[in-house]
This record gives sequence, structure tokens and C-alpha cells, in this order.
Amino acid sequence: MGCVTKQEIENYARQIGIDLIGFASPDCLKEYKNFLKERENLGYSCSIEERDIQKRISPEFILPEVKSIIAIALSYNVKYEIKNYSRNFGIISRTSWGIDYHKVLKEKMEKLSEFIKSKCEGVETICLVDNNPLLEREIAYHAGIGWYGKNGLIINDEYGSYIFLGEILINKYFESDIPKQSKCGDCDLCVKACPTKAIVKPYIINANKCLSYITVKKGKIDEKMAKKMGRRIYGCDTCQQVCPFNKRAKKVVRPEFLPDKLLPRHELIEILNMSKKEFEEIFGPTSSSWRGKSIIIRNAIISCVNTKEKNCIEPIKNLLKSQSPLLRGYSAWALSNLCDKEILSEIENALLREKDEMAKKMMTEALNKLKGDKIENHKG
Ligand code: SF4
Ligand code: SF4
Repeated sequence: MGCVTKQEIENYARQIGIDLIGFASPDCLKEYKNFLKERENLGYSCSIEERDIQKRISPEFILPEVKSIIAIALSYNVKYEIKNYSRNFGIISRTSWGIDYHKVLKEKMEKLSEFIKSKCEGVETICLVDNNPLLEREIAYHAGIGWYGKNGLIINDEYGSYIFLGEILINKYFESDIPKQSKCGDCDLCVKACPTKAIVKPYIINANKCLSYITVKKGKIDEKMAKKMGRRIYGCDTCQQVCPFNKRAKKVVRPEFLPDKLLPRHELIEILNMSKKEFEEIFGPTSSSWRGKSIIIRNAIISCVNTKEKNCIEPIKNLLKSQSPLLRGYSAWALSNLCDKEILSEIENALLREKDEMAKKMMTEALNKLKGDKIENHKG
């Protein structure tokens, strides 16, 4: 008993640069079973979420002897002035500025685990960040890291919601912290600002409409949603940007979360022209690279259409010969939106070469659109 106290763990966590720490019971997730079922029934869960509800609420599936969960948070609210960007840029969410946070958090959690293990015999831990089925925000809430905002995010009084969350499952019991009540009150700025109305009602998010998910979704994006993406290439920060708690949140000095090669407003043409090597150099070190190059370039193409970037036409034309069928299809779609009938023959030639069904469909639709435009022009 008592080989290390919560206070000692908290002190060490601060020493190694963890901003927030709290303790929760592994049973705290059990109460979400019906909530998850209802979400699933309403169609609010997205394809990257774990479908097996039991896995989402059962830390013991990951560490059978788990007795507590240590929740941690790291602020990414770094001071950085966005300036000098070109006119034709795409937007990268703040979560992807700097080095992949999974790495940064994992390192700190491993250190914290080693500290606990050095004090107590027989301790087992498992460190988790994001890529696991457990309900992370709910753990953070129960550990007192912050309260739920109407945008579904965890908000801390001092750091706002620009925080990355991580969890250490541990086979040692610690008393749980106390959850905090929401402080949103009458505010509904995030609900109003959400471009897709993904916040269907306060605290309830339809993940399928959320641009954070849509920008990483595989394949073709519904055209209405693609329009709503605006310039977004990866993620969406809108409901956080408007939140008053973020406007007064503490800034942190954390060079690892400052942008390096990937800029918060990144030149679209550079993204469209990226080789595999360049993708690895620019996007590779950040958390935005996990879905691969084609998804990022697809989003850049959508961004060009949304902003009517004529400068992007040449690089998009080159993508008609891309190795990715998704990009071949999307380039035809984009050209039908950005160009006039002079582009018809290039898309027709691409269609003759095409073997992939989805790309063929997108090319045929692009040709129909252009031909339709031609008829309208005649009428005019
Ligand atoms: S991240 Fe964007 S799309 Fe998702 S809920 Fe917030 S504002 Fe809406
Ligand atoms: S914008 Fe307002 S309603 Fe939304 S999370 Fe922040 S305080 Fe709550």
C-alpha cells in the first residue's frame, strides 16, 4: 500500500511537462453503454470509431488487472502568428502543427510510468493516445481534467480545449478525482459557428457531419460536405476558435507543437505537386499524415474548387494521370468546376484510359457537367 502517492505522481508529471493530470476509475465508462447504442442508432458514429461498444467501455480488455486510469493532458495552445501566407492556401488544423502529438504524449506517459514503477513493485501500465477504442474524453471528464463543452470537447478552465489527451491504465488503485460541471451556460457560439451543423444539439455531435472526420474520410466525399470544407485540408478548428474559454486560455511554450515544414496555411500548389518523398518530408512528422498522401491531395483539390483557384488548374490536370484512382476522379471533377469546355478532350482521353469504376463515374459526371454547361451557354 502507499508506495507512491497521487501528489508525488502529480509533482513528477509537472516536472516532465505534463500540464494536467487526474485519476479515474476504470468503471467510469460503463455508464456510456446506452449513450453509445443510441448514437449508433441515430447514425452519429463514424467509420473510424470502434463498432464494438463493449470494447469502448472496457479498459480491462486492454489491461485485465486495471484498477485506475491516470488521465493526462498537454496543451497545444502555442504562441504562433500566422502571417505571410500565399493567397491560394489550404488550412491545417492546430492539432497538426508541429510533431505528431501521439509521440510527444507517449514519451511523457512512458516516463511517468517508469517513475511509478521505480517506486512500486509489480506495477503494470499501458499508455494510450487516441488510437484505441476507449472513450478518451469521457475518461478525461471523470478524471477532472475539464468539463464538457457543447461542442463535445473537454474544456479546462486554464488551458481551454486546445489540449491533447492521453491515458495510462494501471493495475494499482488510486482514488478518483471529481468531474466538473459544464460552464457553457447560455453560450451557443460553437453550435452557431459549426459549418455543417454537426453539433446537432448541445453536447451531441454527429461525427459523420463533422469536418474533423470528413477531412480524413476515405474515398469520395458528399458534394455538399465538400463545399463546407472550404479551405480545410486537415481537421477543423472552428468550434474551438469561437469558444470564449479558448480566447482567454493560457498560451504555452512548447516548440514541438510549432509548425515546421507543414504550415498552418499551406500553399495548395505545393500540396498538389507533392511526390511521395516530399509528402514524407512535409506531412510525415505531423499527425495529419496517417491517412496518406492521396487523402491530403484530394482535400487540396476540393479546396482549389471551393476557392476557385485557377492557378491550380495545371497541377490538377497532371493528376488526371495520378497513380491514385481517387485523385484521377477528383481531378476530373475539379476541372469540370474550374474550366470551360476546352478541357473536355483531356477528360475524355483520361476516361478512355481509365479502368477504375469510381474514377470512370467521376469522369463521366465531369464530362456531363461540362457538356451541360455548353448547352446552357448556347441558350445564353
Ligand atoms: S470540428 Fe468543425 S465541423 Fe466538427 S463540430 Fe466543430 S465546427 Fe463543427
Ligand atoms: S463556444 Fe460556448 S457553448 Fe461552445 S463550448 Fe465554448 S463556452 Fe461552451
